[in-house]
Amino acid sequence: MIAERMKELVKGSSVIRAMFEEGKKMAAQYGAENVYDFSLGNPSVEPPKEIGEAIKSILDSEKPTVVHGYMNNAGYEEVRNTIALSLNKRFDTEFTAKNILMTVGAAGGLNVILKTILDPGDVVVTIAPYFGEYRNYVANFGGTLAAVPADRTTFLPDLDAFEKALTPATKAVIINTPNNPTGVVYSKETIENLAKVLENAEKRFGTSIYLISDEPYRELVYDGVEVPYITKFYHNAVVGYSFSKSLSLPGERIGYLVLPDTLDDADEVINAANVANRILGFVNAPSLMQLAVARCLDAKVNVEAYDNNRKLLYGSLTKMGFECIKPEGAFYLFMKCPIEDDKEFAARAKKYNLLLVPGSSFGGPGYVRIAYCVDHAMIERSLPAFEKLAAEFGLK
Ligand code: PLP
Repeated sequence: MIAERMKELVKGSSVIRAMFEEGKKMAAQYGAENVYDFSLGNPSVEPPKEIGEAIKSILDSEKPTVVHGYMNNAGYEEVRNTIALSLNKRFDTEFTAKNILMTVGAAGGLNVILKTILDPGDVVVTIAPYFGEYRNYVANFGGTLAAVPADRTTFLPDLDAFEKALTPATKAVIINTPNNPTGVVYSKETIENLAKVLENAEKRFGTSIYLISDEPYRELVYDGVEVPYITKFYHNAVVGYSFSKSLSLPGERIGYLVLPDTLDDADEVINAANVANRILGFVNAPSLMQLAVARCLDAKVNVEAYDNNRKLLYGSLTKMGFECIKPEGAFYLFMKCPIEDDKEFAARAKKYNLLLVPGSSFGGPGYVRIAYCVDHAMIERSLPAFEKLAAEFGLK
């Protein structure tokens, strides 16, 4: 008796989760050490010790009715203030508590901002490949997602195609940098060019186009790469941040939205987003976690562990003859399939107990996503399986 629309969503529901379940079955059959599960973006490094210490100290010293109680739908004022000051220090911005809305992870934040701005029939543009849930989040509010293919060599936005995709119905654009699934990071120049295209489109159509920057991987970058802060380049920019990956806390569901004063109708947007947070049923972000992350804004996970995985995988796979985009951030490697059909390729990889996600799940057919947020030793053990896969396709 479930809703017709829900039946479709269930049918199309996460290939990645299905794979994860399959991985567990395979582990029971072949032994966990003989299955190489690269399917899920679940952080493999521990949260920094500061998190556990902060939680203990909050529980020991703060009033339980405050720690576990309701607060303003936007979150604790002092938490939002601390985050605003930290952003100002790091990125030379001018936020106050008013500009920060604590959310249930990046997923919660994206749903809040989309509920705030979308009317049925509105279009949200994104760059493919993209995090597949965007389609569902946009559809939640009657919008449609238009995916514009990225440049096929750099996987950065193809500006001409992007410009052509914008219409008077475009209410928002979602970008994600560092990117899931490609690992690319947009440079200052790329952001400046995107902003120019958007400003021109706003003028041409006489509309507001919100640029939503989905940034759960902001802190996971390698080789000293910089991730420019989007609100400095475009007046209608909203940041969706999450601690899921930066502090390895995905199950705790904590993040925030940045809603700058430069937004068109800023006060109305901020007020509506507070209401959206409540009526979507989140009410407010988890209270204990708000207090804990505010004490750990300078804490870091061991990014070097991901970097070591990245180097080993990228180096080994390219040596075997596979073509990969060199990731500069996040913990994913996007590898070109030696055949056109990525689902067929992923099925053939499974014969060697390699679980890779077909790129078509991200609107990026012809590729597979390899999540390297796994044990380094598993990558080492998996290399002979990748060698066999390369041999099957006649790579060098
Ligand atoms: N956006 C992207 C690009 C992601 O990869 C993820 C999670 O993997 C999310 C959003 C959701 O993150 P959260 O767990 O903070 O809701």
